[in-house]
Parts: sequence; structure tokens; C-alpha cells
Amino acid sequence: MQASATDFIPLMIPALNDADIALAVRVLKSGMLVQGKEVEKLEKRFADYIGVEHAIAVSNGTASLHLALLALGIGKGDEVIVPAFSYIATANVVELVGATPVFVDIEKHTFNIDVAKIEAAITSRTKAILPVHEFGLSCDIARISEIAKKHNLFLIEDAACSLGATEGKKQTGSFGQFGSFSLHPRKSITSGEGGILTTNDAELAATIRILRNHGIQTINGKMEFVVAGFNYRMTDFQAALASSQFKRLEIILEKKRKLARRYLSGIKNPLIQLPATPADKVHTWQTFHVVLQPPLDRDKGIEYLKSKGIGSNYGAQCMPAQTYYSKKYNSDCAKKFPNALLAWKQGLALPLYDKLMEEQVDFICTVLNELE
Ligand SMILES: *Cc1c(COP(=O)(O)O)cnc(C)c1O
Repeated sequence: MQASATDFIPLMIPALNDADIALAVRVLKSGMLVQGKEVEKLEKRFADYIGVEHAIAVSNGTASLHLALLALGIGKGDEVIVPAFSYIATANVVELVGATPVFVDIEKHTFNIDVAKIEAAITSRTKAILPVHEFGLSCDIARISEIAKKHNLFLIEDAACSLGATEGKKQTGSFGQFGSFSLHPRKSITSGEGGILTTNDAELAATIRILRNHGIQTINGKMEFVVAGFNYRMTDFQAALASSQFKRLEIILEKKRKLARRYLSGIKNPLIQLPATPADKVHTWQTFHVVLQPPLDRDKGIEYLKSKGIGSNYGAQCMPAQTYYSKKYNSDCAKKFPNALLAWKQGLALPLYDKLMEEQVDFICTVLNELE
């Protein structure tokens, strides 16, 4: 199959079908536009699926991380351990509550935080570990959970990319005080913008519900404004859109896994490092991310793929190397975070979604195998 300008293969197409859209339209026609019954239904679905007591829907996956840190009382003077490689929101939320992100390098092949380096980053100021399940693969979350318990630290999982990913028998988002999910169109299912917090702690769940809705708490049937809260609510038509796709989640993920296996066997270029697939984990392939080895140049790779009608992009950032963080903390990233730096500079995210066809994957592999 030869791609042309008219059948460009985009990096992402959301997993929406006509039934999903019809459901959202039905909610729109009902006139119930803000947070209501559809949000409640989505929350119930999420909690059941992840295997936790509570799920709280919010406006996006950054708002959910922000609220998690606030609910745990993390702020000025506190340190939070984060991987050096993630979408920038993971570190931004730590800054937003006035705390300090302490970066830890990632493993070269999983793109997840290197567990062996976490304990050396813990100080008397450390309050929490905020690991990421990067690109839909669980980090070593059981081991991280043990480290958190041993040092009396909170554990917040940035599960923005990892809905459906497991380690052992447990879903990501069920290990820590909080799991934080995103329903952005780049993730496996979407509400447009959207986020979900999961927790087993009833008190924390109640705090999140208050904070997301202007600080309102109902006391003895009376509405009281008990804290200066946010409006971080999700709308009902967004929730309906996500709920509708949620019913197909396993089908969507299975399709993506099949296509990922096709990439793994189809890419034969020795200058392209393939992503790891650890045996005790189920990957959800939110992103199929490879790393180009020198002399291949990632930006030239993106241009070449584009010239062949294939959309691609970098995968995530080496966060301490971004302008705000490098000005503030001036880390020697090449020395401290070599794997994060390489994944950011040479990493390449390839098209992977349920609507992608096998022949398209084969074509992308052919083009990748030509890179030299
Ligand atoms: C997408 C993403 C976020 C942010 O989610 P939004 O819903 O876009 O705010 C945070 N962390 C990671 C790892 C992500 O991939």
C-alpha cells in the first residue's frame, strides 16, 4: 500500500464511533450539560473496572493530579519524586502546589522510572512518590509501593496513559493513595478533555469531591463553602462519550495489542530500539514508542515519515531539561538523566489506534526499515 497526501496516516485517531457520538448528543439534547448522572455512571464504571472503592471524574488528567497532591496536603517545603521522563504535567502539578519535583532517571527500554534509583532520591522532605505508567506500561509499581510504605510516603500513580494496564493481577491506579487517569483524545478512550481519580480512601474521595466543586460540602442538608475550591468538574455529555467507549475498552486494547505485536515483528532496522514488554505486565500501548540510535536523527525521521504520508512525533519530555525546569534547577541532565534525555531527543511515537489497519502498520514498518 502506497500512502499519498490523501490517505495520510495520522499519529492518532480517537476510538469514537457513531454510537458514542449519538449518546453524547442525546445528553446534549436533554439539556443536562454539567456534572450529573452520566458523570456518576462513568465514576461507577471506572471504580468497578480498576477495583477500587471510589472514582471521581474531573475536567482533565492534570486537574486530577493537582487535586491528588492538594488532598494529601503536599505543598511548600515538600519534595515529590517523579520520573525525569514524562509528559510535562507530571512535574508541573508538583510545582503548582509549591512543592519540589525530585527527578529520577528512567530505564532505557521500558521508559519507566528506574526503581533502583528511587531510594537514593528520598530525603527528610520527601512526602510522596509520583511514578508514571509511561505509554501504557505499568512501572514496577508493587516494588515502588513497598518503598513508599517503608519510608512512610504517599504513592500517587500517574496512570494517565495506562487505563487497562496491569502488573500481576492488579490494575494500575489501584496501588497507591490515588490513581490519576486522563481521557484526553491521545489516550485509549476519550471524553475530549477529562480525568479520573481512583482511591480506596473514603475521606480522600470526599475531599476531592469538595475541591472539584468550589469547596462545597453539604452539611446537615445545607450547602456550605468549606474551602476555596476549584471548578474542576466534568460535563455529563463528556462522561457519556467516555462511558460509551468504555464498554469496548477490552476490544480497543486487544486491537492495539495485535497491532503492537505487528510493529514488534515488522521493525527490523538495527538502528531502531523497540519498546520492552515485561512478562508480568499487560501493556496497553497508549503509545508505540521507539528510540532511534545514532546516526539516525529523530527530527529527520519525523520529516521522512511525513514525506511518506505517516504522522509521528516525539513521545514525552526529559522534564528537567525543559526551559522552566532547567532555569530553576539547572540539572546536569546528560549526567543525571541520560536515559530520559535520550528518550526525549531520539524517541519516536508511531501511529497506534483501533482504527489503524494492519496494512498500514506493515507500510510504516517498511518505511522505518528504510531509515539509515
Ligand atoms: C496525558 C498525560 C497527562 C495529562 O493529562 P491531561 O488530561 O492532558 O491533562 C499527565 N501525565 C501523563 C503521563 C500523560 O500522558
